[in-house]
Amino acid sequence: MKHLFLRIFSLLLLSLSTTFPLHAEVRDLGNGIRLEGSFTQGGMVVGQAPAGAKIQFQKRNLPVAANGVFVLGFGRDDVSPQTLQITLPGGAQQNIALAIRKREFQIQKVTGVPARTVNPDPKDMARIEKEQAAVGSAREVVSLHTFFRDEFVWPVKGPVTGVYGSQRFYNGEPRSPHFGVDLAVPHGTTIVAPADGVVSMAYPDMFFSGDTIVLDHGMGISTSYLHMSKMLVKKGDVVKKGQPIGKVGASGRATGPHLCWRLNWFQSRLDPQLIMASSKPQ
Ligand SMILES: [Zn+2]
Repeated sequence: MKHLFLRIFSLLLLSLSTTFPLHAEVRDLGNGIRLEGSFTQGGMVVGQAPAGAKIQFQKRNLPVAANGVFVLGFGRDDVSPQTLQITLPGGAQQNIALAIRKREFQIQKVTGVPARTVNPDPKDMARIEKEQAAVGSAREVVSLHTFFRDEFVWPVKGPVTGVYGSQRFYNGEPRSPHFGVDLAVPHGTTIVAPADGVVSMAYPDMFFSGDTIVLDHGMGISTSYLHMSKMLVKKGDVVKKGQPIGKVGASGRATGPHLCWRLNWFQSRLDPQLIMASSKPQ
């Protein structure tokens, strides 16, 4: 009987963990170094180090604010542990092995997608490469803003129809994993900035993602908005949390109106639902 209860309890935990994989966790590493966030694939972690510390992670010298704040993220396929290298103001170096949790990702089948967008021809491929380079450089923006520390709001609220990390099959063919959270809301619904930011890209009519916006929230943390029917801001605009930035649509490779909302730490894709754990999408 006890065994059965344990079994039910662990199943319950498992089902809860697939819905909310993600409670923020605090790790105090001593020497004035403190980390807080989701130590899991797709997680974002905000750090505090002594002022003047230098920080390296995944071969990158991280931007560090004058007060010692920094941020990092774990990609979908990052393995545990990941090493954080900290050089304290006195010169002492500390290598910290960050254990991260592995996640199980769903398989999602998407049918009824135009064949041209599943197997692009060489001319489309050239266009796709140019567009991906534009997105890549928008995500590479290095600023010292710390807008990512604010509590984010949902850019739209509605049913979640796609989650981070799922392996996708388009018309039966395996393609890249899905990296955002899809929110199915009517065409024309207003999309708001989830936190303060600076528009680092506003690109019309991309092959896969249609009208696409990238917002920089500082230190490599950016959010992306795909498949929009209208963009209300342009590159360089400073936006405030809650400010309208565009309208929902189905532009690019989409089967119906929805917002695909993404979170990035430089080129690593993070899971927006992890930073929204305390707020429901509808
Ligand atoms: Zn999506």
